[in-house]
Amino acid sequence: MMLIAGNWKMNTDVSSAVELARDIAESVGRHPNVDVVICPPAVNLADVAREIDGSSVVLGAQNMHFKDSGAFTGEISASMLTAVGCRFVILGHSERRQFFGETDEGVNLKAKQAIASGLIPIVCVGEHLSEREAGQAEEVVTRQVERGLHEVSVSDHHALVVAYEPVWAIGTGHTATTEQAQQMHAHIRTLLKKLYGDAVGASILILYGGSMKPDNADDLLRQPDVNGGLIGGASLRSESFISIIESAVRAA
Ligand code: PEP
Repeated sequence: MMLIAGNWKMNTDVSSAVELARDIAESVGRHPNVDVVICPPAVNLADVAREIDGSSVVLGAQNMHFKDSGAFTGEISASMLTAVGCRFVILGHSERRQFFGETDEGVNLKAKQAIASGLIPIVCVGEHLSEREAGQAEEVVTRQVERGLHEVSVSDHHALVVAYEPVWAIGTGHTATTEQAQQMHAHIRTLLKKLYGDAVGASILILYGGSMKPDNADDLLRQPDVNGGLIGGASLRSESFISIIESAVRAA
């Protein structure tokens, strides 16, 4: 099983979001082994949901609050997301950690709330370049996984997705090598097996993110512990996103 998720970040307006969603929904066939998620900005979720209704493309959000309602100006809850048709939510993206002070503890609260509300969290982890250069990449990712998923119980492997996104590879054009990606994915796999047991841990999807593009997707997606991709820049053009989905179909 593979999952390809597009993170549109703070891009698109209503008309370009709907157009992009339509292009993707019209081109993506039903693949038994590949799921496709698009994550538009929150204000475009409802319009995009209408556009992809009836297609094989699924809706995701880019963030959420850990409470269900209340005095949290500017925030959006998990139940609001499910009400507009979201099935997935990205949590702890490095841009949230870097620019909005998101912590592993916050990610943990959000992951619990997402699962309790019926959303599948895509929990993002990944080291900075300085941490990799200091030989601390595995240590950083271990901490993010263990704290982010602390007491996050999953009934089965469908309830949770993890995305390994080395910060130095996001939006930079510097993709991790296949060896770097596989090595860290294998490490995360070991952590997930410890947390959830061998069977569930072996089948939780671990996505790679960080400058995945049509010309490197085949190689990355063929790695044994790479179960898909979280795609930023290349998800904003339907041709490149669809090309990556085709790579996933070939690798699945
Ligand atoms: C991302 O933001 O999750 C991402 C992987 O971005 P990009 O593909 O542009 O590096």
